[in-house]
Amino acid sequence: EIGHNHIDHATPEKVQAAITNADTHTHIPDYETFARHGDYTTLKNLRENGDWEALQEQILTSGLRGLGGAGFPSGKKWGFVRANPGPRYLAVNGDEGEPGTFKDRYYLERTPHVFLEGMLIAAWAVEAEKAFIYMRDEYPAVLEILRREIAAIEEAGIVPKGYIDLRRGAGAYICGEESAMIESIEGKRGLPRHRPPFVAQVGIFDRPTLVHNIETLYWVRKVAAEGPEVLSSTEKNGRKGLRSYSVSGRVNNPGVHLLPAGSTITDIIEACGGMLDGHTFKAYQPGGPSSGLLPASMNDIPLDFDTLQPHGTFIGSAAVVVLSDKDSARDAALNMLKFFEDESCGQCTPCRTGCEKAVKLMSQDRWDQPLLEDLCQVMADASICGLGQAAPNPIRLTMKHFGDEL
Ligand code: SF4
Repeated sequence: EIGHNHIDHATPEKVQAAITNADTHTHIPDYETFARHGDYTTLKNLRENGDWEALQEQILTSGLRGLGGAGFPSGKKWGFVRANPGPRYLAVNGDEGEPGTFKDRYYLERTPHVFLEGMLIAAWAVEAEKAFIYMRDEYPAVLEILRREIAAIEEAGIVPKGYIDLRRGAGAYICGEESAMIESIEGKRGLPRHRPPFVAQVGIFDRPTLVHNIETLYWVRKVAAEGPEVLSSTEKNGRKGLRSYSVSGRVNNPGVHLLPAGSTITDIIEACGGMLDGHTFKAYQPGGPSSGLLPASMNDIPLDFDTLQPHGTFIGSAAVVVLSDKDSARDAALNMLKFFEDESCGQCTPCRTGCEKAVKLMSQDRWDQPLLEDLCQVMADASICGLGQAAPNPIRLTMKHFGDEL
């Protein structure tokens, strides 16, 4: 049933029903099934009689923000791209390299056409000449599905042959950073660019480029077809909308859990069927390694954009990892820095040398905390991109909340 592929949830009951359906649903819908249920009609209607500014208003009203991690209001981004003369491009960021994040894969494996229609709607809105999908090569099933389904919509005349250019990433985490991704699409080494100019002004081959994450485009299609309420009508703890939390760690049912955006870690653990037997909740990573670790005592914070900044961290792509009393926060933080050391592109010294130095200091029996804090300050202040700027988060939060382990 195609209905199972649509996560339609304006109320908490519907949210729960959607989670239940999605979690058990493994069918990959093909184009014929999708089309039989009247889909792509939203795109067709917009192309025939649509007003991009009216759709932009709907997207703004829905509160949709960039779900790759940056959280920039999607409707505003369209305005910035449109403000620059064409030709313009659309680039889809499907690199999903943040450890613990797997929501894009989840939606692509189940409902590729919701994403594809959303992508073509966004391309229509900014009058993009071409759409590039930058897809993680570590997702071979997704690549296969996309190849097959893009060919099907070309065959059906929904999009001209060659309009969608599917590109494979090559395993570099930094290519999930939008300007490094654009360099990679251009055939160059994936090094982040200095900003300004922003990619909305100077993107792929120096043309204005709209960059969206996979899940963001999934919701563009939902809002365009069902109205802004599909997101805006859910409210919890003063936060509006929904969040696809990728949850892993010491819980009974890890996976993608679609919950109100104001959910706390307590709500998330509950949605995951509680902690594993014999494990007591100790700490959590709210949004990928760049977000570091928070202690179990901070269990009442809504995990949404903007709510974690006062605590020295952020939600990012909502990759939640739950740690228990069997885990060491110190080891987890070291593991995060080893990851950044591996994945630093090496372009700037504060990050390249800073990550290496941090790993050495964190591997000692006792952490030299004043020296680590000095290093964190330099990395956060002087790194070119988010990798080096956020790499200090796991160090600082571990020193703040888990000092007894250091
Ligand atoms: Fe590369 Fe790190 Fe500098 Fe970013 S901060 S440009 S990843 S060296």
